[in-house]
Amino acid sequence: MSEILSHSQLTAIAEEFGTPVYIYHAEKIAEQYQKLKDAFANQDVVIFYASKALTNVNILRYIKSIGANVDCSSINEVKLALHAGFAPEKVLYTSNGIAFEEIEEAKNLGVHINIDSLSNLEKFGKKFGHTYPVGIRLRPNILAGGNLKISTGHDKSKFGIPVDQFQKVLECVEENNLFIRGLHIHTGSEIKDADVFVKGIEKLFEIIPYFKELEFVDLGGGFKVPYKEGDTETDITLLAEKVKEAFANHPNPGNKPLQIWFEPGKFLVSEAGYFVTQVNVLKEAGTTIFAGINSGFNHLIRPMFYDSYHRIENLSNQNGPEKTYTVVGNICETDTFASDRKISEIREGDYLVFYNAGAYGFEMSSNFNSRFKPAEVMVKDGKAVLIRRRDVFEDLLKNQIEVE
Ligand SMILES: *Cc1c(COP(=O)(O)O)cnc(C)c1O
Repeated sequence: MSEILSHSQLTAIAEEFGTPVYIYHAEKIAEQYQKLKDAFANQDVVIFYASKALTNVNILRYIKSIGANVDCSSINEVKLALHAGFAPEKVLYTSNGIAFEEIEEAKNLGVHINIDSLSNLEKFGKKFGHTYPVGIRLRPNILAGGNLKISTGHDKSKFGIPVDQFQKVLECVEENNLFIRGLHIHTGSEIKDADVFVKGIEKLFEIIPYFKELEFVDLGGGFKVPYKEGDTETDITLLAEKVKEAFANHPNPGNKPLQIWFEPGKFLVSEAGYFVTQVNVLKEAGTTIFAGINSGFNHLIRPMFYDSYHRIENLSNQNGPEKTYTVVGNICETDTFASDRKISEIREGDYLVFYNAGAYGFEMSSNFNSRFKPAEVMVKDGKAVLIRRRDVFEDLLKNQIEVE
């Protein structure tokens, strides 16, 4: 049985904590993590939760409690992970276009580091030589992922060192006597096809033999999750079989047995999240009925930014007749959440829930239009607990310096 929160649970939370509110179901995160653990049970696989999807420190602590490690996209995420109690060796900083000072800082904090440019690799080598192990983030030149905005491994992408510059990487490693412990690739997000990961591994196998101190290969994240009825998630069991087969086909006698790392973000937290809003106004315009909610892309930017689909249901009139609505926000920009969507009849004041709101939801929210950021609630062991209060007016002025 899949872990889900019922309409009545969601309604009760909306009533208690107000709306708009992000609600996270801890046990669903554990269920997703367990799927990965089960599928890779007989392989040496380590899971690093890509924390940029959702960094509330309570979520980080929960993720630590179920045994996962954590992958970070900034030095502040590294510090949040350490603050949440992760030991430095459980923390990975996969960098992208950062200043060398941040890499140094990460080194001083004792975490794993994947370096993504020749220039930083060289600086690191000059300063630290063989004394501190690092991973190299490579760009495999593979086009994959849900759409171009979330595709990171293709041959025009800024992410990683292009594999075709591999010779230069090698020279840099040799000249500076770098300790290369891992190779990393992350091709993008919402990758349904297990073969994409296999393609990535195949590219890595060509270069693995050049690194004698290698201990892991990091295949990144990007597993797809279902968004609508009939959608499928990445077949993790099939992926595990294919990964196993690929490694079996490439014995690598020079090296120690390689550990395999993954960095799922969305896969762990997307479905665990619900975003509950309330309908302010209904507006009929020609054949369209706009349902205007007390939110906007300042709270959930994915539909406008990536054209992403979020299932929407009316919590307050579950059995009402279905009608067609265009769900929009209340900010002074076009912020359409869904066009011509069938939803059970909406009245002003009804609660609407957005599914798949755990990943890149709150995390990408802003104070645009000087609106408050939503509250966050975590449901664990059947209990709902506030884990971030809604902004208050003072938050809008908090960092402003009033000079006159
Ligand atoms: C964003 C990111 C991930 C996670 O991607 P998901 O699609 O959320 O699984 C993993 N690794 C790196 C390096 C990333 O930047």
